[in-house]
Amino acid sequence: MSNLKPAKNIIRIINRRNMSKHYDVLVIGGGSGGVAFSRRAASYGAKTLLVEANTLGGTCVGVGCVPKKVMWNAADLAKKIQHAHGYGLYKDLPLDKEHLTFDWPYFKEKRDAYVHRLFGIYERNLTKEGVDFVYGFAKIIKDNTVEVSLKDQEGKTEIYTADKILIATGGKPSHPENIEGYEHGTDSDGFFRLEEQPKNVVVVGAGYIAVELAGVFKSLGSNVSLAIRNDTVLRNFDHIIQDTITEEYIREGINVLKQHNVSKVELESDGKSKKITFANGEVLNNVDCLIWAIGRKSHLGLGLETIGVKLNDKNQIIVDEYQNTNVDGVYSLGDVVGNVELTPVAIATGRKLANRLFGPEIYKNQKQDYENVPSAIFSHPEAGSIGLSEEQAAEKYGKDTLKIYTSSFKGMYYAMLEEEQKEPTKYKLICQGENEKVVGLHMVGDFSAEILQGFGVAVKMGATKADFDSCVAIHPTSAEEIVTLR
Ligand code: FAD
Repeated sequence: MSNLKPAKNIIRIINRRNMSKHYDVLVIGGGSGGVAFSRRAASYGAKTLLVEANTLGGTCVGVGCVPKKVMWNAADLAKKIQHAHGYGLYKDLPLDKEHLTFDWPYFKEKRDAYVHRLFGIYERNLTKEGVDFVYGFAKIIKDNTVEVSLKDQEGKTEIYTADKILIATGGKPSHPENIEGYEHGTDSDGFFRLEEQPKNVVVVGAGYIAVELAGVFKSLGSNVSLAIRNDTVLRNFDHIIQDTITEEYIREGINVLKQHNVSKVELESDGKSKKITFANGEVLNNVDCLIWAIGRKSHLGLGLETIGVKLNDKNQIIVDEYQNTNVDGVYSLGDVVGNVELTPVAIATGRKLANRLFGPEIYKNQKQDYENVPSAIFSHPEAGSIGLSEEQAAEKYGKDTLKIYTSSFKGMYYAMLEEEQKEPTKYKLICQGENEKVVGLHMVGDFSAEILQGFGVAVKMGATKADFDSCVAIHPTSAEEIVTLR
């Protein structure tokens, strides 16, 4: 959990227009999904209460997308500054890696202040929309009834009832509790609490959070080891992304430890530095910061068993395609149900569910479509992906029905730079069937996230290769390659 405080110096805020304790709908969890649902539900006139245990905006605003992207921006700038000499700028200043300085405490304070302002904006938006909200930990104690242990008010509880309950409690980092000394490491939440920049960092994990944090640390000047269980990072993505980012991280000087499993973590004699032993017998000493980024698990402990809400074998809440749990009037969405764990997915699902439950008749069958969701990895360089990987497409449609177009080059921006400063751009378009419908688009390179947002619309609309080609290129860009692939 973040150590950031709610924006206002009060722990409980209730919109005074609405003092009764019975609601049309009670939402547990004020993250991306819960807030989006609440605002949309209240906009239809539903009497809505939102209960948030920590800070509004949830993981995304407090310890996820937002502070992560701010850190990525700093890391990206640190790299770009080194390119200035290539463009004839600041020739009299030493801008190489060795001279890089980063004022972590200064930047953290600014970043936290920004996040703090967002908490306030979330509160104001809820109030504007007529949503009541309360800070505290919610527990379902019987049908339609929730007990809230008020935040920062030891032992104080309040009881609320509601016709409907939405569970949008998100997730939290998993820890390898079977590894001796694992508690000497921290997680992505802890990353955002770091007051000083660690010199020697070990990140364990191969998913996008591990890759992003390792990239940020490296660009900002830390020595970074990235321990992965297999041979590539980002194994849920197409090989063009897995292979390129793994190679680039190695080229950038990240110590990528392939096939490495941590077996033990010990504190060294200074009581702070860590000694990390791997299953293959290798040892890393003098580690200032160990970050576990090995996955996330659902945020539970909210009394689901009292009303019999069913979980799957990963301890995620089971829902149908309309976000109904097995209990009448109890719904769930976002990271706590798994599926596609991204902020915009939680937001879109929340709005659609509110439309369905409280909106006009035309929305009565509305549900979230989880196909073709674009996503980005804020690595260095960035990567982005929509649709099926080549492997998935081959499995689904048969390899013979696919046509794969690729492009690999160094963007024009790098023409002015030294060879070792040049980063790759790689695109892969996966087309299927006679009309070459685009079923996957994967990219690595500058601005991938921004580029993919636009192409995502086309893929979502069912575009074919011919549709891509019919769009005239914007020159000179890197993305023009995507509409001129041969
Ligand atoms: P959350 O946002 O986690 O909100 C759940 C809320 O419920 C929390 O505020 C929690 O305090 C509260 N809560 C839990 N239990 C209770 C209870 N019993 N009572 C009251 N309140 C409770 N996604 C992207 O799209 N892009 C990114 O770049 C991105 N980067 C990320 C980087 C990191 C480091 C992490 C960790 C995640 C990132 N994500 C990103 C994922 C994104 O943050 C989540 O998918 C999103 O926040 C899920 O929203 P949610 O509403 O399901 O849950």
